[in-house]
Amino acid sequence: MQNPKEPIKAYIKKILSDVHATIVGIILVGLGISAISLFVFFENVWSVLKTTMLQPMPVWAVLVLVLLVLVYVYLKLHKHPLANPKPVNWLFVETGKYKWKVHTINGYFHTVERIPYCTKHDLQLISSNGENLFCPSLGEDCNIKMRTIDIPSYVDIATSLGEKEARRKC
Ligand SMILES: [Zn+2]
Repeated sequence: MQNPKEPIKAYIKKILSDVHATIVGIILVGLGISAISLFVFFENVWSVLKTTMLQPMPVWAVLVLVLLVLVYVYLKLHKHPLANPKPVNWLFVETGKYKWKVHTINGYFHTVERIPYCTKHDLQLISSNGENLFCPSLGEDCNIKMRTIDIPSYVDIATSLGEKEARRKC
């Protein structure tokens, strides 16, 4: 006697097989339609491009194109400072009663300004006779002075300190 479950199993198998065939069919038809659509789309794009290229360009369009090319070349050759900023900054180091402005570029030590600042008044010293520098604080006595002949040795010390400070911060 035949097992009553066998026909049911066979029926389910057939249904699954049909579903599988249907899904494969749908995918194949979908792929075919997509390929045809892409072909038609690119054919239309090519047709529009060909028509546009064959038409004479208006003068203003040629001028705009030439201008854009010139601007592009200019920006490529002379890197615009706004397009490629170099962060220039400074810090101060102190040698006793003087402080020195240390310039850094991209966080690295660059130079030390040769004229120091008064630490008390935060003012850059000025020269009166070429031999001495003094603090220009107005209305207040300030005994901060420096002989110009001493500047190089102070600058050497400030350079060393500034390089160390810039290295520490970078
Ligand atoms: Zn001062």
